[in-house]
Amino acid sequence: MSNYYQKEIETASREEILKIQNEKIVKQVRHVYDNVPYYRNLMDQKGVKPEDIQSVDDIKKLPFLSKDDLREAYPYGLLGTDLKNCVRIHSTSGTTGKRVVAFYTQKDIDIWEECCARAIMAAGGTNEDVVQVAYGYGLFTGGSGLHGGAHKVGCLTLPMSSGNTDRQIQFMMDLNATILCCTPSYAAYLGESLAERGYKPEDNKLKAGIFGAEPWTEEMRRTIEKSLGIKAYDIYGLTETSGPGVSFECEEQTGMHINEDHFYAEVIDPKTGEVLPEGTKGELVFTSLDKEGFPLLRYRTKDICILTRKKCSCGRTHVKMTKPMGRSDDMMIIRGVNVFPSQIEAVLLKEGYTPNYQIIVDRKNNTDTFDIYVEFSPEQFSDKIADVQAREGALNAAMRTMLGIGPKIHLVAPKTITRSEGKAVRVVDKRKLHD
Ligand code: ADP
Ligand code: ZN
Repeated sequence: MSNYYQKEIETASREEILKIQNEKIVKQVRHVYDNVPYYRNLMDQKGVKPEDIQSVDDIKKLPFLSKDDLREAYPYGLLGTDLKNCVRIHSTSGTTGKRVVAFYTQKDIDIWEECCARAIMAAGGTNEDVVQVAYGYGLFTGGSGLHGGAHKVGCLTLPMSSGNTDRQIQFMMDLNATILCCTPSYAAYLGESLAERGYKPEDNKLKAGIFGAEPWTEEMRRTIEKSLGIKAYDIYGLTETSGPGVSFECEEQTGMHINEDHFYAEVIDPKTGEVLPEGTKGELVFTSLDKEGFPLLRYRTKDICILTRKKCSCGRTHVKMTKPMGRSDDMMIIRGVNVFPSQIEAVLLKEGYTPNYQIIVDRKNNTDTFDIYVEFSPEQFSDKIADVQAREGALNAAMRTMLGIGPKIHLVAPKTITRSEGKAVRVVDKRKLHD
């Protein structure tokens, strides 16, 4: 039996959800047209009037917004209400370039925190839980979002923020944290750090983790689950639509339910902009149905995923998205071959390595170079050259099978690759520096 924060809406029939969405979109488009000149111009250029949008089926008539629009309109150009009605600003992490800012009214914050509360309860959270929030607090949305969600559920909230691993471990153990919220790369690091200090997975009281804000593989999930002795849940979101909690995993763990009463999702062909049918892989596009401060319509996330409406055993009816295994931006083209960092992570963990790695791409004599630095785990460590070479050769072959191209593998001593406390930097593409 699943645990819901807002059962009625989370398990509403398709018809009920559509009714809510249709009512909200008509109002929202009219509001944006009247209050956001930047978007009104885009609609005018496309020849779309607010009255052309009568239901969510008409959303496809609206123009897209991209991160470039957000950068162009920075800081106030997409504001949906008077600044005096807003109570907070957050900013993106700047993973792919200049940061953009988003504005929130109190109602926006309440809805966002409710979405996070849904995620916490879907991971089994109740008011008896101690939630350790180890996402960064501040401009980044991770800390505040899960913190607010934990309050709404009534959990005892430990606002740790990211970093200071010794203190994280001390409070996790002393205060019996039961749910951990942070990036998956930091969760893996905490697991590793606990083991180093002699703790076994069963020594902590954690039962679940809610991890997101960066791509992570199923292999990474298993590594974290084993090292912390928990069930690891995925959570997704982006500053532009509020933050974490746009979608979240339930116990079935076959994708993340999108909070459809607040966000309308489409998947499009990133080249043509054409809306793709359910079950097809493409770029995720969000329309916020009720945001006041920063009401983006048809925002292109660059995240690649698949939507599915297959019935879920948890009882929730909201559409599910697959784990985005990287942004269209993350794809590297190396010697003409498309490579995603997530494919590399999957191979490394499958071959028994730790999730501590870095990918370096460069260009020498007009040819791309492709190097992967991977740590031995302490058990694998060997200083015999023949052992190291044999392992590097085997990993190169496994990568070649997966990617169709062979990287140069460098096995390095444990603890030599920098650990991340927030979003991990997996790729250093030096080619961009020369362009
Ligand atoms: P930035 O875009 O600068 O990183 P944000 O902090 O707003 O700023 O991050 C949002 C992005 O993080 C999403 O668009 C997506 O690419 C990534 N992301 C968030 N949650 C997940 C997740 N669970 N799995 C994969 N990627 C995620
Ligand atoms: Zn479900």
